[in-house]
Amino acid sequence: MSIRKTSKAKKSNPKYIFVVGGVMSGVGKGITTSSMALILQSRGFNVTAVKIDPYVNVDAGTMNPLEHGETFVLADGLECDQDMGNYERFLDTKLTRINYMTTGSVYQSVIEQERALKFGGKCVSVVPHIPNEVINRIKQAQSTHNADITIIEIGGTAGEYENLLFLESARLLKLENPQDILFVLVSYLPIPSKIGEMKTKPTQHASRLLNSAGIQADMIVARSSHPLDDIRKQKLSIMCNVSADDVISAPDVDSIYHVPINFEYDNLSTKLLKKLDLRPRKRDLKEWTSFTQKIDTANKEIKIGIVGKYFNSGNFVLSDAYISVIEAIKHASFSARLKPVIDWIDSSEFENDSKKVAGLKQYDGIIIPGGFGERGVEGKLKAIQYARENKIPYLGLCYGMQLAVVEYARNVAKIKGAHTAEIDPKTPNPVIDIIEGQDINLEQETMGASMRLGEYLCDIAPKTLTRKLYNTAQVQERHRHRYEVNNTYREELEKAGLIIAGVNTENNLVEIIELASHPFFIGTQFHPELISHPLNPHPLFKGFVKACQKSK
Ligand code: GLN
Repeated sequence: MSIRKTSKAKKSNPKYIFVVGGVMSGVGKGITTSSMALILQSRGFNVTAVKIDPYVNVDAGTMNPLEHGETFVLADGLECDQDMGNYERFLDTKLTRINYMTTGSVYQSVIEQERALKFGGKCVSVVPHIPNEVINRIKQAQSTHNADITIIEIGGTAGEYENLLFLESARLLKLENPQDILFVLVSYLPIPSKIGEMKTKPTQHASRLLNSAGIQADMIVARSSHPLDDIRKQKLSIMCNVSADDVISAPDVDSIYHVPINFEYDNLSTKLLKKLDLRPRKRDLKEWTSFTQKIDTANKEIKIGIVGKYFNSGNFVLSDAYISVIEAIKHASFSARLKPVIDWIDSSEFENDSKKVAGLKQYDGIIIPGGFGERGVEGKLKAIQYARENKIPYLGLCYGMQLAVVEYARNVAKIKGAHTAEIDPKTPNPVIDIIEGQDINLEQETMGASMRLGEYLCDIAPKTLTRKLYNTAQVQERHRHRYEVNNTYREELEKAGLIIAGVNTENNLVEIIELASHPFFIGTQFHPELISHPLNPHPLFKGFVKACQKSK
């Protein structure tokens, strides 16, 4: 694809851009980072991105998605923040565990080094040893990816205790290489409804807070519901000590994929490269632009119901827990000029009132995404049965696949009391079970980073729908789960009509199931959503949205 280029420019020092937040969280630092990465890549540079999360968890694997949003999984198995998914989707690349760090992981490795006598008898201190470790990791990420430009997003906002050591690391790196480091402040400009005017003061404060950490922003990305006018650009310029030309207006947009294009209206890549003293090639965003045109012109709606449980937080509905699923649906839909309308359905609704499940008939397709634990499981089973019997396209992702096997075992293969051992460890028929090795983790409560994680090979059976969609005999997909289809029941399930469409031959594990005489019924033990790209939608999602379109 044309936006992926390796650098042929004369090698200069590696460059680093730190992206720091101001005013409040959730203003789009991740999308700003991803978009800057893409536009710099489109000028012919190798770009990589690093995410720093200030929490003490060693990785994102042990957090509730309601708390933190989706846990993204890298090819090498690291469980990390959803922003890493955005970086991969925008850059169309595979990142590695060195591209991600948390306060917990940084301290953990410093302590491990101390235990291994790696500090030569010195007193190990927060400063400089923690910033040194952070800087080493950033440099390692740069060298691992041979990056001309490394963009580092520091989580949280300026002025918090939690990210101070990371800001300190950035300050020290700048001191070491003043020419090669830029700071971008992504801040928010509110328009209070009673005042009706865009206010710059919170951003002025954010810039000062950054100053108090010894850092001067080189550029401000001004997020707001509306574009920034010249008066406010001037004001921010004077008060925050940046040139007005370096205040970038970043109004809300309908789709995150338009952000890079908007940035380029402001010539952001040229400005950044000039500051970094790098000579750019001609911009090449052709394919990306044509993808955004497809978004703009998609007009045929398909209605998809996502049945899950991580939606409600107080009075708000959160879809962050399933961000990669949503993006994968969008990639596949937009590429076919379809406009997906997604409804969130709490599966526990079907548990008390079984009539409610018939409400699913309004959907062109149903997805049950990954999940854990008991809440809402019986409701999900009802939804799966409904989709199977009423021939509504169904895509089950991980838990959604495991539960499809439970449903089939109970209602078609008539295996009494069939269940997953995750919910009922004493079930007489654990069609989904824990495998050898994982049982020890549960016993010993070794829960962090101990699931089946990251990329595994999967052989696709010939003459299946899955094979037709992938159009290849072997794929590599990303996993995050502890339980598996129990091979003891494989024959019985196959006899009852369940098709085993994909297996991992090395470990003899079922990876994909499908049903014949159904327009589309596929379940995957892995998470195909994690590797879907805007310009290269995942084949199973493509097949799914096509089936949705047909079922309309
Ligand atoms: N809870 C299931 C397991 O651990 C499925 C996990 C998931 O959906 N990611 O195997």
